[in-house]
Amino acid sequence: MPGYEFFGEEERKEVNDVLNTGIIMRYGFDPLRNGNWKAKELELAIREAFGCAHAHVVANGTAALTTALAALKIGYGDEVIMPCFTFVASFESVLSVGATPVLVDIDDSLTLDPEAVRKAITPRTRCIMPVHMCGSMADMDALQQICEEHDLLLLEDACQSAGATYKGKYLGTIGDAGTYSFDFVKTITCGEGGAVVTNQPDIYLRCDAYADHGHDHAGIDRGADMHPFIGYNYRISELHAAVGLAQIKKLNQFLSVQRRNHAILKEALREAPGISFRTIHDSEGDSCTFLTWFLPSEEITQATVKELKAKNQIAGNFYWFVNNWHYIRKWDHLKNATTLNALHPDLKKEVIHHANKDFSSSDAIMSRCISTAISLSATEAQLKEKGEQITAAIRKATAAR
Ligand SMILES: *Cc1c(COP(=O)(O)O)cnc(C)c1O
Repeated sequence: MPGYEFFGEEERKEVNDVLNTGIIMRYGFDPLRNGNWKAKELELAIREAFGCAHAHVVANGTAALTTALAALKIGYGDEVIMPCFTFVASFESVLSVGATPVLVDIDDSLTLDPEAVRKAITPRTRCIMPVHMCGSMADMDALQQICEEHDLLLLEDACQSAGATYKGKYLGTIGDAGTYSFDFVKTITCGEGGAVVTNQPDIYLRCDAYADHGHDHAGIDRGADMHPFIGYNYRISELHAAVGLAQIKKLNQFLSVQRRNHAILKEALREAPGISFRTIHDSEGDSCTFLTWFLPSEEITQATVKELKAKNQIAGNFYWFVNNWHYIRKWDHLKNATTLNALHPDLKKEVIHHANKDFSSSDAIMSRCISTAISLSATEAQLKEKGEQITAAIRKATAAR
């Protein structure tokens, strides 16, 4: 997943363009910037890379989600259906616009279970927010169908899956809006950065204004801009955008290395007893940031993790079931609705309700699931060695049962 592994001259050149003028803000100062518009160039590069009509770059992926939700006019009283396996940013952004995060089960694609989505729909549901976790896709045909039947918005959290596709379309560009994160550990990085993409001009214009205090950006004098609605400041700096511009030019290279390394590791795990792999709804479109695999039982999985830890080989292997940041089980702050500032009491009740539902069918999947991160810089020999280590750990864990 991490573009930071291939960091070098290209990033330095783009950043130096900005440092040479000292104009590190993305708006204004036209005569002083020597033609450098890195955020704008990054937006153009995103549109070209992912084949969408509009892109707006912001400070990070969480800001991108918040901006997208606001631009979709989602707020108090609205329910947003999202998966119980994601990064905390997904529900943080829903709460930040005052809406209710309705968490539901995932299936063995590690993304929204369409049946669980259907069951969660109420008259207040406004939006379905699939999260394309760990480099590959939710079942977009099924989710689009549900959105059409119930007249719902579709917002794709593609923060972990820039460059992945579903039936030929880039993840993020299929729904009403989509978001990417360019934080330090994502497929491409700005250091800190993110983007909203959409094919609908009105949604784009709202994002463009919302992320900059509501500026309508109608003229070249910022002070004379109008503020059609209240916004926030989620701007990216030119320095961060410059890094992202260098990185997106290398995206296809990253993807091809990831896909090659993924295939080598998968082959090396073929003989592991009882192993099976994540359902990928369109295997050609997998960006291959992770190889995700299952073992037959929670017990064997726990024993495998223990064995990898004992041998100091756990690095790069993620057992999400016990992870504090990615799975409902450890989100006590959400289950208790612990916030610094008061939530409306009705919202608080709903947050607590939805976070404390029965997620046993997701538990049955996540307790047997491990994702191995695909490093860009790993050699074939290192990948094979990793595969052998994991296979040995699984063998030992299995034999002991
Ligand atoms: C990283 C991530 C985000 C948020 O991105 P940041 O740039 O770190 O704010 C949102 N959703 C998912 C699924 C992520 O992995």
